[in-house]
Amino acid sequence: MIRTRFAPSPTGELHIGGARTALFNFLFARGAGAEGRFVLRIDDTDAERSRVEYERRLMEELLWLGLDWDEGPDRGLSISYRQSERGLFYDGALSNLRARAAVYPCFCSEERLAALRKEQLARGEPPRYDGLCRSLPRDEVERRMAGGERPCWRFALPQKTIAFHDMVRGDLSFAPDMGDFVVARSDGQATYLFASVVDDHLMEITHVIRGDEHVPNTARQQALFDALSWRSPVYAHIPMILSGDHQKLSKRTGSTPIRRYREEGYLPEALCAYLSTLSWVPSGPLSLFSLKEMAAAFSPARIATSSPVHDEAHLVHHQREAMRRLGSGAILERLTALDPRFGKFEPAGIRLLIGDLLEEYWTLPLLQDALSPLFAGPSAWAGELRKSSEPWLSDAGEILRSVEPWNEETLDKRLRGFMKERGLRGRDFFHPLRLFLTGRESGPPLTLLMRVLGRDETRTRLEGPKGRE
Ligand code: GLU
Repeated sequence: MIRTRFAPSPTGELHIGGARTALFNFLFARGAGAEGRFVLRIDDTDAERSRVEYERRLMEELLWLGLDWDEGPDRGLSISYRQSERGLFYDGALSNLRARAAVYPCFCSEERLAALRKEQLARGEPPRYDGLCRSLPRDEVERRMAGGERPCWRFALPQKTIAFHDMVRGDLSFAPDMGDFVVARSDGQATYLFASVVDDHLMEITHVIRGDEHVPNTARQQALFDALSWRSPVYAHIPMILSGDHQKLSKRTGSTPIRRYREEGYLPEALCAYLSTLSWVPSGPLSLFSLKEMAAAFSPARIATSSPVHDEAHLVHHQREAMRRLGSGAILERLTALDPRFGKFEPAGIRLLIGDLLEEYWTLPLLQDALSPLFAGPSAWAGELRKSSEPWLSDAGEILRSVEPWNEETLDKRLRGFMKERGLRGRDFFHPLRLFLTGRESGPPLTLLMRVLGRDETRTRLEGPKGRE
C-alpha cells in the first residue's frame, strides 16, 4: 500500500511550488493503482493566518488541475482531516511522550527567549533553545504548575545522531544540536512539527514528498517518530523551484497563483505537464499529457537533486501543445460554450480558422479575442479609408455576388484577378478590405475569414447594408 498526502497550510493561494508537490504525491499514489491512496490534509495549526476561504480555493484549484484526493476534509473516513479539529489525537500523543519522559515543561518567558535569540545571533550562532528548563527539579515543576503557571512542552532531543533515508538525496544524518523544540504551546495547542508526525502516523502515510525547505523539520520529526516508537514514512524532498534569475520563487520573482493561470485560459493538462518537468526526470521518452500516463511512469527516486528553474516560455510551449492536442473541434465547442454566437458559423470553416490562429493565440480567451472580428458591427466599415476606396469598393462587392463555390480558392482567384484588372496594389486593396471586414489591421487569412463570414455578411461589411440587396 502506498499512502501519500498533500498537506497545505490554508494561509494563501496555491502556487507553482505547492501544485508541483501535490502533483508528485498524487502521481505516486495513482501509480500504485488500487494499492494507492492520496490524502488531502489541511495543516491549519496557525489559527491566525489560516482561512477557510483559502482552504476552499486550494481544493478548487486542485480539482481543476485534476488532482482529486481519496481522503480529505470533504471525503474519506469520518475523521477530521483538518489539524485544527484533531486536538484530541495530539493530546493523546503528548501524554504518550510525557509517559516516556521524552518531553518536559518549559516556563521560559517570551522575553527570555527573545533575549537568548538576540545573544546567539550576535555571536553568529543559529538561534536555538538552551535547555534551561530541561533539568528543572520535579518539585519546582509541580510547585509552578500548582501556582497556575502554564508551561509549553518541549521535546528533549536525544543526544544522538539523527539519520534517515531520503529517496532523492540518499542517506542523511544530522547532529542533535538543533535545540529542544516545542511540541505543544502553553495553551495546549500542538505545533505543526508535532501535529504532522501524529497525523502521518495515524493516517498511515507511507511516503512524504515535500519541498526541501522541510529537510531540517524532517530531522526533528524523525526524532519524534523514534521517541514514540512509530515507524516514520519514507521521505522524498524535492528541490526548490528557482525563478529565472535564480532566486527563490516568490511573488516578486514570478510565482503566480494557479488561479491566475486558470483565469488566463491555460489548460490544466498544460500546467500538469509543465509542473511534472520541474525536477522529475522520467526514465524514457514520454508524452506528458495524461495524468494516467504520468502516474504509470512516476517514481520519487527519479527526482533530480538540482533546483529547476521556472520558465513561463516553457509553460507556454506546453499550453500550445495541449491546445493542439485538444483540437479545433473541441476548441470550437468550448468557444461556443463561452459565446453561443460561435455556433452559427459553418463548422468546417471556423475550425480551419481556429487551426490557423492557434500558433499565435494559444488560450481560449486569446482565441476568442482574435475571432471577435467575426462579430464586428457596422463601425468596422466607416471612416476615411472608405471614401478613398469608393472607386472600386462596390464593384468588388459586386463580383463577390457571383463567386462560386464560396471558398478560399475561388475567392482568392477572383479577388486577385479583380485587383490586377483595376491596377491596384496589394496594400491598397487587401489592407482596406481587411479593415472593412474586421476593423483590424491584421488577422487570419482574409479569404478564409470571408468563407466563414459567408457571402451576405461579407458583402454587407464591404458595401454597407445595400450589399445584401
Ligand atoms: N503545511 C506544510 C506546508 O504547507 C506542509 C509540510 C508537510 O508537507 O509536512 O509547508
